[in-house]
Amino acid sequence: MVDNEYILAIDIGGTSIKIGVVKQDNVIENTSTRNVFKGKSNQFIEGIKDFCNIYINKYNITKIGIGCPGDIINGKVETAANLGWKNYNILEDFQNNFPDLEIKICNDGLAAFYGEKKYGKLKDIDNAIFITLGRGVGGAILMNNQIVIGSHLKGGKIGHMIINRNGRRCNCGRRGCLETYASVLGLINTVKEYNMHTIDENSKISDEKLSGYQIVQYAKGNNKMVLSAIRKWNYDIAEGILNLCNLFDPQRIVIAGGITESDLIDLELIKTFINNRGYEQCEVYLTSFKGKTGLIGAAANFDFKLN
Ligand SMILES: [Zn+2]
Repeated sequence: MVDNEYILAIDIGGTSIKIGVVKQDNVIENTSTRNVFKGKSNQFIEGIKDFCNIYINKYNITKIGIGCPGDIINGKVETAANLGWKNYNILEDFQNNFPDLEIKICNDGLAAFYGEKKYGKLKDIDNAIFITLGRGVGGAILMNNQIVIGSHLKGGKIGHMIINRNGRRCNCGRRGCLETYASVLGLINTVKEYNMHTIDENSKISDEKLSGYQIVQYAKGNNKMVLSAIRKWNYDIAEGILNLCNLFDPQRIVIAGGITESDLIDLELIKTFINNRGYEQCEVYLTSFKGKTGLIGAAANFDFKLN
């Protein structure tokens, strides 16, 4: 019975790679390593193999579920701009290294969605938008209980809708994509911009190597400049969500990603923004699984059904 199995889950992110053992919606054990494989997909499997083997042996694992950014088609990463990977046959790589194991791979946003739909806030919801905020912005669109993914499996790329045509340069080659503002990297850049222009000397910070973690600390310390930048970031997220409401009129929106472990996301601001613009009934929630959604989702890819 699949539901009682331990599954090895791998969540490949732009900054870190999470590897864990998942049983249904529980992460039993997990570890994380820096993603040092940008532009080096040929070194990826060698780099993470040992982490995998520890869990595989300890839990007698027979299945590996992987979530990876980018366009994943037939087990191949066609392009993952954030990772600098192109035409990387990740499934084949895993199968060669773990020949006795069953392996599944899909886009990381989609994987996280599977977890939320199977066990979390999207259970029994037929019309929804699921957004993951990480180094980039991913997610999934569910309409009439079907995933909207298009004719070539490349649709539903929430992160690459433009919210500012002359805005920040995006990895996809265009400017002003939602991802460049609403992602954690987008937040870091917004804080840097605010820092550069602030006239409040008490709020100025050293922005070299600024991280999401540091922003959380500045916010806790009530740094006014950082707090205004966070507010602007929340409006950017809200702007993207309102675009999605205009297109899809969902019943529910769920926001996921490691950043949901902090309290930087202002759900009230986002809700008010969309409620005041015609979407009074649309609900907005944070993920049920905080930073673990990606792992739970990568494992939920096995035996996932839209009922
Ligand atoms: Zn883009």
